[in-house]
Amino acid sequence: MSATLGTILHELEPTWKILVVEKRSGVGEESSNAWNNAGTGHSALCELNYTPQRPDGSIATESAIAVNEQFQVSRQFWTYLVTHKMVPNPQSFIHASPHMSFVWGQENVEYLRSRFEALKDHPLFLGLEFSEDPMTIASWAPLLIDGRHKGEPLAATRFASGSDVDFGALSRSLLERLSSAGARILSDHRVTSLTKKPSGEWLVSLRSEIGHTPSEVTAPFVFVGAGGMSLNLLQKSGIKEIRGYGGFPVSGVWLRCDNPEITSRHKAKVYGKASVGAPPMSVPHLDTRVVEGETSLLFGPYAGFTPKFLKYGSWFDLFASIKWHNIGPMLAVAAQNFSLVTYLVKELLATRSQKLQALWDFYPSADPDDWYEQTAGQRVQVIKPDPQKIGVLQFGTEVVTSADGSMAGLLGASPGASTAAPIMITVLERCFPDRIAGWKKTLQKMVPSYGTALSDNPEKARVSQEKTASVLGL
Ligand SMILES: Cc1cc2nc3c(=O)[nH]c(=O)nc-3n(C[C@H](O)[C@H](O)[C@H](O)COP(=O)(O)OP(=O)(O)OC[C@H]3O[C@@H](n4cnc5c(N)ncnc54)[C@H](O)[C@@H]3O)c2cc1C
Repeated sequence: MSATLGTILHELEPTWKILVVEKRSGVGEESSNAWNNAGTGHSALCELNYTPQRPDGSIATESAIAVNEQFQVSRQFWTYLVTHKMVPNPQSFIHASPHMSFVWGQENVEYLRSRFEALKDHPLFLGLEFSEDPMTIASWAPLLIDGRHKGEPLAATRFASGSDVDFGALSRSLLERLSSAGARILSDHRVTSLTKKPSGEWLVSLRSEIGHTPSEVTAPFVFVGAGGMSLNLLQKSGIKEIRGYGGFPVSGVWLRCDNPEITSRHKAKVYGKASVGAPPMSVPHLDTRVVEGETSLLFGPYAGFTPKFLKYGSWFDLFASIKWHNIGPMLAVAAQNFSLVTYLVKELLATRSQKLQALWDFYPSADPDDWYEQTAGQRVQVIKPDPQKIGVLQFGTEVVTSADGSMAGLLGASPGASTAAPIMITVLERCFPDRIAGWKKTLQKMVPSYGTALSDNPEKARVSQEKTASVLGL
């Protein structure tokens, strides 16, 4: 997120001084690292949580269209990065990977068919395919059908030009380029506090992770892009807009397979349906991942719980985030989300054979010896104050900005890195309202559809999708 914001800001205001502070010795090692997230270019092509079924049986498509629209902004921005040689080449961070949804059981088959009907003619979903025929599904993804009992109702959809993104590699490339363009990347330094000075600027207190030497910098604008720890840092800044917000950490584990005989037979990201109570990000999926030129398969994530807000965080993160102003919303969320708590307890207690059962539901002939566990990144779900319910659990991303626009921060992890470009443009719109009109032309160079919706213009949507697919190799 910070790498994206820094890159966009540098294009808009090349003379502004940018300092990036990172507590680890390398950048992009937390949630953005390739093995800590699923690398799905989230565009609702396969994630069923964006298309819930209404009580009357119809399919709500608004969230799916909104997420896809956001992803088109990221695609356009990445296309700009590639054409302006700001990243080495598209294969360094993005690979084509068809996006599939796969369900079994008559009720789920009906749902998937209705979802397909609801989306297939939308300009951003043209090309979506649907099949209930096991042979067709096997031609799309053979592992799903190998060893499966005959006669079971099955259905799948496929969108050929989906993507697998290495957000860690992209972050590193962007920050390397920013650094060569004059920005300062201060790694091994932790931001310990943020204090508003009488002048209106922020005093950012730092501590070196090696030697623990303290230091300070002053900045007129601060973006708190600390991933899961953004909540705690925003609380430290004292901005009133963060009051009432809380965080609920969910950890995760994948099953990973590197066996080339298996990986060569699966070229897709296949999303299933979530179990009851499961948070949307815990929907199981069987994914092709391409990281540093090597192909693997990931299955999961299996959700878990630790009170840490970062994978390399502290056991005290959750407790440190509990304040008088967010206790009410946090307790309200705990009371309202019993099914989530039950789901997490079940996941925590799941044995290896129960985990394998979930894999066998997707890939019936999977050999356990081919799969090993890999710890995923931490997600901190946003608990948001709510006038009626006191607090609600929000699965999306929340941008928090101070009233004077001098500070912004990002909470939440979904749809996540896929939407870094549109979310960071929102940050700029909210924090620099006086400049945004002057930046419009440059923003439109980076994102040609900026200020419009591709959904409203099928021809523009087609041209944009074709151009970005051709430049990014999708
Ligand atoms: C299991 C899982 C699966 C996911 N799958 C997807 C997916 O398929 N597609 C998708 O688009 N998104 C996915 N996401 C979400 C995505 O990973 C995140 O939205 C994204 O990586 C967040 O980027 P970020 O820059 O905000 O945070 P991070 O990448 O976590 O970066 C935050 C940085 O801040 C640093 N930091 C923290 N505290 C301090 C401090 N006090 N001082 C200095 N530095 C600090 C950290 O070390 C870290 O480098 C997934 C996440 C998880 C956990």
